[in-house]
Amino acid sequence: MRREKIAVCPGSFDPITNGHLDIVRRGLCVFDRVIIAVGHNPLKVDLFTTQEKIDMIRRSVESHPRIEVDSFEGLLVDYIKKVDACAILRGLRVISDFELEMQLALMNRRLCEEIDTFFLMTDYNHLFVSSTIVKATAAAGGSVEGLVPQSALDMLREKFPQTNKKQPR
Ligand code: ADP
Repeated sequence: MRREKIAVCPGSFDPITNGHLDIVRRGLCVFDRVIIAVGHNPLKVDLFTTQEKIDMIRRSVESHPRIEVDSFEGLLVDYIKKVDACAILRGLRVISDFELEMQLALMNRRLCEEIDTFFLMTDYNHLFVSSTIVKATAAAGGSVEGLVPQSALDMLREKFPQTNKKQPR
């Protein structure tokens, strides 16, 4: 029997955006299953706890039979081996993403040669969307409707009751 092809899409997801979801959904054209794995990036200060992120992501993918949501600590390659995945799925937006993504991909390959990183180019609708700009906009009272799933919108409103006062054009 053919081995199931599982990809892990790791990230901070603070919060998950429609850009992340687009990469995961398109990844399903190639992989049998995609695991969205919430990790902690020590370079970033998180707004949401890991459990809040997991709940938010689960609500955004509902009960899609081929998408799972989990969290991990420690080395990504160890987590990938644990869940028997074969690939890392990441998104690319602008040239500035490339440098860090290349470093991560090469370091992960050095740690485990069998695991490869696959990149999908973002859709132009999500080119400017990042968790950081979403948080900054929501905190300042701007609308982020259409940029994040409803579950993220609800949880951002809990953190920033002032969000959504300024509607987009
Ligand atoms: P990390 O802290 O690990 O970079 P992120 O949650 O910021 O985690 O991003 C996870 C992955 O999703 C990265 O590969 C990132 O480039 C990608 N990504 C983030 N935003 C978008 C977007 N708008 N379109 C496509 N890919 C994206």
